[in-house]
Amino acid sequence: MTTLGSASAEPGEAGFGRLDVGETRDGTTIGLPVAVINGADEGETLYVQAASDGDELNGVGVVNRVVPQLDPDELAGTVLVVGITNWHAFQVAEHRNPIDDTKMNRAYPGDANGSSSERIAHATFEAAQRADLVLDLHQGSTSRMLNEVRVRCGRRHRLHDECLELAKVFDCGHVLDQKGPDGQLARAAPDEGVPTIDPELGGAVGWDEESIEYGVRGVWNVLEHYGFLDGDAEPETQTRAKRFDRYGAPSGGIVNFEADLGDEVSAGDVLFRVTDVFGSLKAEVAARSDGVFWRSRRLPQVATGEYVCSVGTSVDTV
Ligand SMILES: [Zn+2]
Repeated sequence: MTTLGSASAEPGEAGFGRLDVGETRDGTTIGLPVAVINGADEGETLYVQAASDGDELNGVGVVNRVVPQLDPDELAGTVLVVGITNWHAFQVAEHRNPIDDTKMNRAYPGDANGSSSERIAHATFEAAQRADLVLDLHQGSTSRMLNEVRVRCGRRHRLHDECLELAKVFDCGHVLDQKGPDGQLARAAPDEGVPTIDPELGGAVGWDEESIEYGVRGVWNVLEHYGFLDGDAEPETQTRAKRFDRYGAPSGGIVNFEADLGDEVSAGDVLFRVTDVFGSLKAEVAARSDGVFWRSRRLPQVATGEYVCSVGTSVDTV
């Protein structure tokens, strides 16, 4: 019998339940929706979580499609799933947990006696530590972004090669291989010896079918490559960026992009122009270095200094 919160499953079964992480303001118990898919055959454990940021719904779309397709009779090993991680933020479709105004993915490994986000981080980190592999499903929030996978442990980390391998197997085509900020699950779990990646499934308001498809295929690739399911998914060559250049607006107005997501850009290429509302040019911004056009704001209007786009740099293939 394998359990996660109130979900439990014998070998060859799937079980569903809740993982308690405290109470709402009216005293109602908060239980994250969880699933345990316990394979008929023995094997490794995969931990998957979605909606660590409450407005990032593509991961929920992935879980929503993958879990019903997973047949415990055909599975070797166990899949543990937290379907909605940032419970409070998900309720109101916001990025951060409104109870403590914290970004969940800065709170790992969490604290059993800490803030709301730290307690959720603690409870989900305990589940992640039971696994051999971890997938923390994210996206570029509501901005526009490539489908990519992040390796956040840092290139000198002892588990780096295993995390990068996992990213290649997930196979979104692009990898950002750059040490992440403190408190990310994809940093904290490798420190405990668990290879972890942070798939970033595009960016959308609501959710996006194409990015969900990338995620579903990615989870399936991982299940096949690591022996949970029959199949022969092999690591694919990925375009890797090791750094990120961010660009802001030099003046206020309307942004017109000259590059699209995934385009290769060279230093000096115009990335975007800012015009006034009647179309007169106010500013032109060129790439500072060679790279791949990676992410951009969704809304066309900007204030001076406001974020406009990012270019992945130090690009190679892995
Ligand atoms: Zn996120």
